[in-house]
Amino acid sequence: MNIKDYKNVWIFAQAQRGKLSPTAYELLTAGRKLADDLHEKLCAVLLGHNVQNFAQDLISHGADVVYVCDDPALENYMDDTYARVLAELVAQYKPNKFLIPATNMGRSLSAKTAVFVGTGLTADATDVTINPADGQLHATRPTFGGNLMATITCAKTRPEMCSLRPMAYEKAPAQTGRKGEVIAFKFDATKYVSPLAKFVEFIQSKEGGLDLSEAEVIVAGGRGVGSKDGFKLLEKLATRLGGAVGASRGPVDSGWIDYRYQIGLTGRTVKPKLYIACGISGQIQHMAGMSGANVIVAINKDPNAPIMKAAHFALEGDLHEVIPAMLEVLH
Ligand SMILES: Cc1cc2nc3c(=O)[nH]c(=O)nc-3n(C[C@H](O)[C@H](O)[C@H](O)COP(=O)(O)OP(=O)(O)OC[C@H]3O[C@@H](n4cnc5c(N)ncnc54)[C@H](O)[C@@H]3O)c2cc1C
Repeated sequence: MNIKDYKNVWIFAQAQRGKLSPTAYELLTAGRKLADDLHEKLCAVLLGHNVQNFAQDLISHGADVVYVCDDPALENYMDDTYARVLAELVAQYKPNKFLIPATNMGRSLSAKTAVFVGTGLTADATDVTINPADGQLHATRPTFGGNLMATITCAKTRPEMCSLRPMAYEKAPAQTGRKGEVIAFKFDATKYVSPLAKFVEFIQSKEGGLDLSEAEVIVAGGRGVGSKDGFKLLEKLATRLGGAVGASRGPVDSGWIDYRYQIGLTGRTVKPKLYIACGISGQIQHMAGMSGANVIVAINKDPNAPIMKAAHFALEGDLHEVIPAMLEVLH
């Protein structure tokens, strides 16, 4: 591998079931900065069926080039197939850096693609920069339970790949009249379809409620909530404020609430306008997932809990008294 042959910054624009993931716009922000620092192009990769129409949107939000592989065989996400297509694209066009969102899909896709391509991957990074001395990608991510930040490089192979946490970057704004190039990539279904796995059925989750990653208000509960039933009070407050319920790891480990609500180092990263932490102590692993909130309100019996110091508004008291009082005022 002659690494000098590899040029341009790529991002994977995740699209599923007729929707472009908001992570595409976040990666365009991160990728645009890298591409500008390197004086290279920013390219987006779009795989799926009926995804062609997202290409101009990606250009408007910062992509110079969009590679589109639009094929009925890509309608349902299969990591083997998608990774083979990406590996083929990489072999043909030789990107220098490749960012993939650290979503459920992206985590598995990035790892498989890196193996097929024979390059290194930094998983679950929260920050990416270019080292001006040698143009290498510096991908930073929490390690040792969030106590240290590690900056990881990949010196000898290209592309330097990285999966980037959702919400780590702001979404790129649209710019009217922005022009770019769309390159169609031909897909040979017989060549790529995996012999190991087949798509059987897509079942939509029955879970209602607002997606944590889209919520502008989050009411999160910790061990202080006390029980599964205790979360009903938080749900009331979240509904009243038009927000979603989240949790620290404490109640998830206790089985009071499902893991998909967990916020923190080993859960989701969120960036709401308002984060109300109820009965959460504010350990570093929790803060790793929510410290980007615009306004943090903490309700805690212990005035010395770390979250009370990090919060913009600290309400000392029992959440079972404070939340009903808030509901009364909000009525
Ligand atoms: C590798 C690793 C990864 C981790 N990943 C995560 C993660 O992703 N997310 C995460 O959250 N944690 C994570 N943790 C766990 C983390 O270290 C803490 O243990 C956890 O966040 C504590 O949850 P908690 O704040 O709900 O509980 P506690 O620390 O037990 O705090 C409960 C708080 O509730 C208060 N309280 C009690 N009763 C009331 C009441 N009635 N009214 C008001 N306040 C009350 C108490 O004063 C206390 O401050 C991780 C740990 C490790 C080692």
